[in-house]
Amino acid sequence: MDKINLVWLKRDIRTQDHEPLHLAEQHNLPYLILFIFEPLIIQYPDASPRHLQFQYHCIKEMNETLYSFGHKVHVFYGDAIHIFEFLTQKYEVKNIFSYQETGLNHTFERDKKLKLFFQSKGIQWQEIQKAGVQRGSLYVREKWQENFQGYVDKPAINNTFSSEKTILLTHNPFELPFYLQNNLQNYPSQYQPAGEKYAWKYLTTFVKERGIKYMQSISKPQESRYHSSRLSPYLAWGSLSIRQVYQTVIQSENYVRYPRSYEAFISRLWWQSYFIQKLEKKPNYETNCIQPAFEDIPFGQDEVKLNAWKKGKTGIPLIDACMRCLHSTGWINFRMRAMLVSFLCHYLEIDWKLGMYHLAQLFLDYEPGIHYPQFQMQAGVSGNPIIRAYNPIKQSKEKDPDAIFIKKWLPELSLLPKELIHEPWKISSIEAKMYNFSLEKDYCNPIIIPEKADFTLLKKLWKIKKLIKSNKPEIKQE
Ligand SMILES: Cc1cc2nc3c(=O)[nH]c(=O)nc-3n(C[C@H](O)[C@H](O)[C@H](O)COP(=O)(O)OP(=O)(O)OC[C@H]3O[C@@H](n4cnc5c(N)ncnc54)[C@H](O)[C@@H]3O)c2cc1C
Repeated sequence: MDKINLVWLKRDIRTQDHEPLHLAEQHNLPYLILFIFEPLIIQYPDASPRHLQFQYHCIKEMNETLYSFGHKVHVFYGDAIHIFEFLTQKYEVKNIFSYQETGLNHTFERDKKLKLFFQSKGIQWQEIQKAGVQRGSLYVREKWQENFQGYVDKPAINNTFSSEKTILLTHNPFELPFYLQNNLQNYPSQYQPAGEKYAWKYLTTFVKERGIKYMQSISKPQESRYHSSRLSPYLAWGSLSIRQVYQTVIQSENYVRYPRSYEAFISRLWWQSYFIQKLEKKPNYETNCIQPAFEDIPFGQDEVKLNAWKKGKTGIPLIDACMRCLHSTGWINFRMRAMLVSFLCHYLEIDWKLGMYHLAQLFLDYEPGIHYPQFQMQAGVSGNPIIRAYNPIKQSKEKDPDAIFIKKWLPELSLLPKELIHEPWKISSIEAKMYNFSLEKDYCNPIIIPEKADFTLLKKLWKIKKLIKSNKPEIKQE
């Protein structure tokens, strides 16, 4: 049997600044690179075809680069343990190099089982920390900060590939099933293009020009599409490392010329890793309120309202435009994400747990470490001292005053003047005739009129917050 090493790619599909690939290349044995589409992950309620499509196309592009070195990423479909059983029957596997996976409990549990399996076979599994985050750690803020800074300050790895280290599998019994392969081959053009090459294009244009207006555009649904970095899917699936982005930005001329924008951007890279670390410490953020005192708040379950929100048919133009834009492209900016959650939980008074997987599936950049803490923060159930209920009409008038974003995603409103478009239920019968518009026929009645919301649950949330602040014992009875 051939003695080999394995490199297991997960959310790190790239050829450069990749430590597991570097370690494999330094070793004297040949190595096989693999990626597994796991039913465990695919069938989890946060997953969606767009995530798989993005990954699949990242791998495809990576293989174009690896081809000239005789290497390739072998794609498997099945339970990780079965695939490693197969590979260890075929080869004498000595080492497995991978990044430490961060995320939810089901992959953590899988890894615990795999560790035992590898131990039983005498295989060394070397897992490298990602951006200073420690998996399942007893997190200490200072330690994480030190880890993160140490990581971004180190030179990025220049990966090289030598063809004599190649192992290619001739027969793969765990190939992607035909139906899945067919689905993944499609890549809707409305999504950001996948892969390292495009990731660098986005990064370069952001540093050279797009990011100059980062701060003044970040909250606006239309302007942010251009001036925000748009690096989130590339960071979430690993086409770029945090270090590559960090170093490219701080070494750029514009970092010195426009510090307000680029410093603000750098702080978000820091948050990214910070939030991922927090979820590692408490993976139950996915299912439980960060502040347990909020667990008993009687959030609603109204299916009609929930479905209207999910489909972008609430009758509130900015809310619907954001949701439909997400359905189509997989991306909206931070403020609009926050507003969608705040509208669900504070205006419609629906349980945050009923909305979180829906957005996870729609986000092309879904990253559990950011998603769950942010979702809870906007739902007001985290430990944050402030609860924000974004008024969707105020947001609409302030952030999309000319309704450019709304008109793009709600073409049925495109003939209305900007003065009427933000609250179409206020259109008088004369105006309706003038614009040949019928609220019921052309659009829909609002499921709630924002200015009439009574915020019963929000008031409860605030009451508990105040009790927590003053540390009163009756908090348990709320
Ligand atoms: C309810 C909710 C859910 C979210 N879910 C996700 C998610 O699943 N995946 C995701 O990448 N972002 C998530 N975000 C954070 C943020 O909205 C996106 O990172 C951002 O809009 C991505 O666009 P960008 O790359 O242009 O961001 P930029 O502003 O250019 O930021 C650069 C990078 O920093 C990180 N970042 C930005 N904002 C934050 C933040 N507030 N907290 C932590 N890291 C941040 C991201 O990796 C981002 O790509 C969520 C926000 C909210 C309110």
